[in-house]
Amino acid sequence: WAESVARGMTSIGLGRHDTVQVSYGYGLFTGGLGAHYGSERIGATVVPASTGNTERQVELIRDLNVSAICCTPSYFLHIAETAEKMGISIEKDTKLRTAVLGAEPWSEKMRKRIKDSTGVNAYDIYGTSELSGPLFTECTEMNGMHIWGDLAYVEVIDPETGESLGPGEKGEMVITMLQKEALPIIRYRTGDITAYDDSPCPCGRNHLRIERLSGRVDDMLIIRGINVFPSQIEYTLMTIPELGEHFQIVIDRKGVLDTMVIRVELKPSAFSDKLSDIMKLKKNVEYALKNSLNVAAGVELLEPGSLARFEGKAKRVIDNRGD
Ligand SMILES: [Zn+2]
Repeated sequence: WAESVARGMTSIGLGRHDTVQVSYGYGLFTGGLGAHYGSERIGATVVPASTGNTERQVELIRDLNVSAICCTPSYFLHIAETAEKMGISIEKDTKLRTAVLGAEPWSEKMRKRIKDSTGVNAYDIYGTSELSGPLFTECTEMNGMHIWGDLAYVEVIDPETGESLGPGEKGEMVITMLQKEALPIIRYRTGDITAYDDSPCPCGRNHLRIERLSGRVDDMLIIRGINVFPSQIEYTLMTIPELGEHFQIVIDRKGVLDTMVIRVELKPSAFSDKLSDIMKLKKNVEYALKNSLNVAAGVELLEPGSLARFEGKAKRVIDNRGD
């Protein structure tokens, strides 16, 4: 566990000269302690901030010269937004350059937005509390999370039939831990959806890599018979520059028909009093979603800052269908 996180941190260039702020929750959710022990193992200084009190999180980053942070992607966005409100530029006023983000699916577009707005390189990390916490991290190539072959054996299966899938085929990740003591974990079905790549990574490591998580077998939404993942919606929204990073998916049933409405905040710069601008943008967003999801979704554009912010995993889906 600590070893696995430490190897990941080393592979993205972190080490004894770094100060790592751990802004995952500490407690039975294993993100906090997992990142903490991993950071200690590489000899870094650890700031055990846990979640909450976001203004103080920003002050700690600035005052303690924090160079790396571990938290959920949605919490990182909240911290960045809070810094901006406090008049602190992460890029100019702090030493923060690396973020290790996990515990919920996020997209490549989100990575680019984080880099562009804060100068921070964001890396993906995978873990699950059942297997004792954070486990696998990307390397500097940012093209998949390395599975340490001596610590874990990973398979991807078809969740319906249980059959093993090949490289590049999306399915449910199944993990066998090879060095766990006392509690053996053999072919544990994680419920998480990914695909593996067994080609060697340009960084020189030959372990299997898993791609960004698309979601969970149980958070896949079925809208009028079409499979939709919240991560696909995020990806599409992030391609539209006028939209902010915060959104909510509301699903209802009118008669026998499922309806889906995406409520998304505008960027402060795109917020306009001109109704015709807003209507035009709304149409564009609806068109982009229809194209990528193959099912129509209504769009509600919101004032910046109107949706709830999250310190841990974001709750983005409200399903009112009641079955
Ligand atoms: Zn690599």
